[in-house]
Amino acid sequence: MANDGTREVLAVRYGNRVSTRAETFLNYHLYGEPDGKIELDYYFWVIRDGAGRVTLVDTGFAPAAGDRRRRNWFTTPADALPGLGVDPATVAAVVVTHAHWDHTGNLHQFPRAEIVMSRAEYEFWTGPLAHRAQFAAHIEPDEIAFLRAAHREGRLTLIAGQHAAAPGVELVEVGGHTPGELIVTVAWGAGTVVLASDALHFYEEVERDRPFAILADLPDMYRAYDLLAALAAEPDTWLVAGHDPAVRTRFAPHPTAPDVTDLGRPRPAAATG
Ligand SMILES: [Zn+2]
Repeated sequence: MANDGTREVLAVRYGNRVSTRAETFLNYHLYGEPDGKIELDYYFWVIRDGAGRVTLVDTGFAPAAGDRRRRNWFTTPADALPGLGVDPATVAAVVVTHAHWDHTGNLHQFPRAEIVMSRAEYEFWTGPLAHRAQFAAHIEPDEIAFLRAAHREGRLTLIAGQHAAAPGVELVEVGGHTPGELIVTVAWGAGTVVLASDALHFYEEVERDRPFAILADLPDMYRAYDLLAALAAEPDTWLVAGHDPAVRTRFAPHPTAPDVTDLGRPRPAAATG
């Protein structure tokens, strides 16, 4: 990748699925609305700073895991990055926002990168409760083993609270969806792009105050929504939901890569997030 001073924040849609609203929102019957279909996108995110350093946020799901769980998928990070002008071998850091299977596949594609996640997340998934069915359904044991190995190799950075992953790239631990869920804020011009990952699967969670169905701690999840709503109310600050197809209409498409959204170019509706 040329170090030409280009800064980018991109969402790469690598898969999708059709689900139902009743499966998506916690205790959906409370809202007195009919069930219906809802489309879910799968993304990972690429941050390229002006110094040419690339931070990858999550690594999607592994193709074999996607096939086994009957998800549609189109690409993996190592396959998609060259088309975006990024040599996967140059990725300096991989942020793991949380350890669910659709965010930790393909970590082996980045054998030299620093991996950054929260200590609470790492300790939970390597701890005694992780094998219980309601939690275990959402991880791949091989991928947790990979994180353990990275820890032994000394290339896993465990953070708590807030952490600068790169210049202008801040990780903020919010919990809720998982014990140590992170969001990522990226300084962008005078404003901020907020990669909410799964602290916000769908904009509707914040905009209509409807928690997502899969969670570790409901009060923390509500507090994360409050934080995201407060961020969205700040000038020039744009929320990027983790699984919402609306990302692709709230921001401009990448000029050449299909399925890639340029988060540095919000459209007017994004500001209302
Ligand atoms: Zn997810």
